[in-house]
Parts: sequence; structure tokens; C-alpha cells
Amino acid sequence: PANPKSGQPMSDLVAQILAETGSSPAAGDAAQPAYVPGSKRCCWSKAHPSDDPLDDIVNGLVAHALGDKQPCTVCPHSASSEEVAVSDDEATTLGDGVFASMDEAVAAAELAQRQYLFCTMAARKRFTDGIREVILSNGTLERISHMAANDTGMGNAAHKIIKNRLACEKTPGIEDLTTDALSGDEGLTLVEYSPFGVIGAICPTTNPTETIICNAIGMLAAGNAAVFSPHPRAKKVSLLVVKLINRKLATLGAPANLVVTVQEPSIDNTNAMMNHPKVRMLVATGGPGIVKTVMSTGKKAIGAGAGNPPVVVDETADIEKAARDIVNGCSFDNNLPCIAEKELIAVNQIADYLIAEMQKCGAYLIKDPALVKKLEALVINDKGGPQTSCVGKSATYLLDKIGVKAGNDVKIILIETDKDHVFVQEELMMPILPLVRAPGVDDAIDLAVELEHGNRHTAMMHSTNVRKLTKMAKLIQTTIFVKNGPSYAGLGVGGEGYTTFTIAGPTGEGLTSAKSFARKRKCVMVEALNVR
Ligand code: NAD
Repeated sequence: PANPKSGQPMSDLVAQILAETGSSPAAGDAAQPAYVPGSKRCCWSKAHPSDDPLDDIVNGLVAHALGDKQPCTVCPHSASSEEVAVSDDEATTLGDGVFASMDEAVAAAELAQRQYLFCTMAARKRFTDGIREVILSNGTLERISHMAANDTGMGNAAHKIIKNRLACEKTPGIEDLTTDALSGDEGLTLVEYSPFGVIGAICPTTNPTETIICNAIGMLAAGNAAVFSPHPRAKKVSLLVVKLINRKLATLGAPANLVVTVQEPSIDNTNAMMNHPKVRMLVATGGPGIVKTVMSTGKKAIGAGAGNPPVVVDETADIEKAARDIVNGCSFDNNLPCIAEKELIAVNQIADYLIAEMQKCGAYLIKDPALVKKLEALVINDKGGPQTSCVGKSATYLLDKIGVKAGNDVKIILIETDKDHVFVQEELMMPILPLVRAPGVDDAIDLAVELEHGNRHTAMMHSTNVRKLTKMAKLIQTTIFVKNGPSYAGLGVGGEGYTTFTIAGPTGEGLTSAKSFARKRKCVMVEALNVR
């Protein structure tokens, strides 16, 4: 192809540009492009934008010819050192992906995504690996986990370290994007996963950093740029993570602003993001309100909403193990994860033994109805939902508030009740586990299906009866179904498989990964390239 303006063949243009930079395709990785003053082509691997779209194509070709590994010599934060740092004071200042307005953030992300189109798949892998690395190095994992717990006043920092590590290590990257090829007499067709463009991602208070890490890896792997809308309560730590990612990506020669956010996250800014014409896809990880909102925008939307995961224990289960798993799963990050055990349904025959075993593992049983009422008054708000100030608090904190001094070995509060109790019906996100008895396993399964409220989110069952395990899995239709393990095994902690922190029951993607953030596109070559 030739440049329509100059008529110069594209290959000549590429050669000319390579000559200008003192590099040649043959020079490979060792070549270091020099910055030509006045030239827009300062950074080939970044494929800087220009007024002429053809320049971008040429930049992309050159980047490819150079192996896409050239560091930029003029852009900020393009130091060759892999070490990046952001101080606490810098975390909320402008720059490194943090913008004053949503308009600016989206415009920057759009530009970045246009440049990103011309990066190689190897570069995408390097960038997503960079996100993993920057969080896993220099004590960042510990720092952001403690900061998230402190800022939001929710959860357990030690458990957040596990969750953040999980997001870094087990979120799928470019390998998730498989290509289909169809060939025949009429030629060759490729079906590939292609980016949406700019994605607007709304993150919950409960997993603020995990969601940014997990979504950023998946969205960038699929070739998108991401605009994050964090919960205002998790502002500082969310902005810190966005900045760390940007600085790391800059050292790797990525286009600037592939991951952005605003300095003051707010409902207004989230609305501005959702309504912005340049945002092509929305991903909401949060409660039912925000999921419904993104689904009514008319844009492609992924809704990862609330859960109310039941756990069923039948008479064939290993009761000692079930007791341990349930207490550990329910108390993980103070019950904040949407997948954590929220109500327990025990077959009558083993219920007393299960309770006794759970008490040995850190369950504090409240039998006194007056004390249960006191707990209700503490943790339930006027609207009948969870009191925000109690969400993600520890069992000992909640017990202390109702006048019970418990040791630090207490992990959850256990009460026995009926299925209509507010603790059973509502998603509390506190380590309070209501137990409901069922006469037999079939009744227990039916009740679990009812209490899951059709969220299609997560459920657990402890049983050695494969027919009943299968029955429950079929009837409950949850995205995650854990058999004989704690809920977090479904996230990938002590369970096989990849992780996601955006579990999309309402819109049907289920376990989201890079391919969820991509569209299938077809490239058809007619009557050629078929070699059969
Ligand atoms: P939330 O719904 O209060 O907030 C989630 C996000 O949406 C926040 O960033 C918030 O600022 C924003 N938001 C909420 N209402 C909004 C509105 N009207 N307009 C604009 N923005 C709005 O949820 P949360 O308390 O932060 O998180 C807990 C909830 O998220 C629980 O219900 C939990 O089950 C769910 N969750 C689901 C998943 C999943 O993968 N399915 C993962 C984590 C959390």
C-alpha cells in the first residue's frame, strides 16, 4: 500500500523512518531509536498518535519491526529500571492515569487504546505481566491490602493480601483469547477476539484493589483501555493502584493512560463515565442498584451483582471438615467476599454435631433470643438491610458492641433460626452465620435454591453423595458451586482454576476473563489461503 498523500510506498516509509531513528529491522532488540527533535515519532513502541491515521499504522509497523521493545527516550516515567514507586502523598495527585475530570480521563484512555491497537500480542503480555509484577513487588501487596482495610474500615488486611496475590497470579492473560480458523473451497475465515475500545469499570468497596488488578489484566489482555470508577470510600488506595500500574506500564513502553481514573470518584463521575459516548462497554462489580443501572444504559454491559451464598451440609458429609471449611470460608476477609458463606442449611440428623464442631473451630454460638435481638438492632438498618458501619467488621468487634467479650480465636457468630429471619434473607457481609435446619437433604437443597434468590452467584455443599451434589448443582444454577470446600476455593484459593473478582451472574458471562471483554470478529479471505 502507498501513502495516499505522498504516493510513497508504505515499505519505503517504514525504511525511511527506521533510517531516521538510526535503527533497522535487522538491528532488532539492540537498536536504540534516537529522538528526532520536532518529530512526533519519539517512541515507536508507544506508536504515538498523530494527525494522520496513516502515521499510526506506520508507527505500528515500525514498532513491530523493532520487536516492540524499544524504550522511550522522551516520555515521562520511561526509566529503564523496573522499580516504580508512588508515595502516600503522591497517591491522590493528578498524573499517571489520575485526571481531574471524567471527560479528560476518557479522552486519554481513548487515545491510549488507539495507540494500543498497534502493539503486538507480545507487548500486551509484557504489559499485563507488568501489572502483576508491580503489585507483587516492593511490599506493595501488603501496603495496598492494609490501606484498603484502613480506608474502607472493612475486612481483614491479612486476607486481603491473599486476595490481591490471587488477582495478580491467577487472572488469565492473553492466553485466554483463542482464535478459530475455518477453511474450505471458499477460502479462509478467522474468528478472533477483538477489543471493545474503552471500557468503564465500576468497582466495589469490598474488593477495591482486587477488582482493579483483575479487570485491568483482563481488559488490557483483550486490547482495551480501562477507565475505573472506584467507590469513594476506597479512593486513596484505588488511585494508588492506578498510578502504580501506569508507572510500571510506562517503564515497559506502553501507551500512556491505558488505565485511568478520576481524582474525586463520585456518583456523578460514575454517571458521567456511564453516559460518555466514547465508553463502549460497562462492567459493574457491585450491588443490585449499580448492576441495574449499567444494564439500562443501552450499552454493552457486564453486571456482576450481589450474592447470598447458601451452604448445605447433609448426613453423608465429613462433618469435622465441613465445620472447619464453613467457619474459614464465612470469616474470610470478615465475610466481605460476595462468594462467602452467608447462610447454613444443615440436615437435622447432623445439625447438633455440626454446631459442636463449628464451636471448636471458632464459631461463637448465641442462643439467648434477647442477645440475637440486640445483634439485629446493631447490624440491621432502618430499611432492613445491613448497617454500613458493621459491614466487614470482625466477629469479636460485633460481639463487643453487644456486650460480649470474646477471645481472638472467635471467627464467626453462629445463630440458629428459621428461613425468614433477616440474617438468612439479607446479604450481610459480616461474619454472622444463621443456621436453618432441614428434615432431609432434598428439603435442604430446595431451601438453598430459594435463599440464593436467583442471583446465580455461588453455593456450597458438603456431602459425599454424588447424586445429591449433582442435584443441587443442577437446581441452583450458580456460577460457582463448591463441593466439600470453603467458598474461597471457588475463587482459586485451595481450589483449581483461574480467578476472577467479577462474577457476572445477572448478565450471564459468569466467570469473567479477557475474552469477556472482547468481541468476536470475523476476517474472511475469499478463495485463497486454503491449502487443503
Ligand atoms: P455498591 O453497589 O454500594 O457499590 C459498588 C460501586 O457502584 C461503587 O463504586 C459505588 O460507588 C457505585 N455505585 C453504587 N450505586 C451507584 C449509583 N446509584 N450511581 C453510580 N454509582 C453507584 O456495592 P459495595 O458495597 O461497594 O460492594 C458490595 C456489593 O457488591 C455486594 O452486593 C456484593 O455481593 C457485590 N459484589 C459482587 C461481586 C461479583 O463478582 N458478583 C464482587 C464483589 C462485590
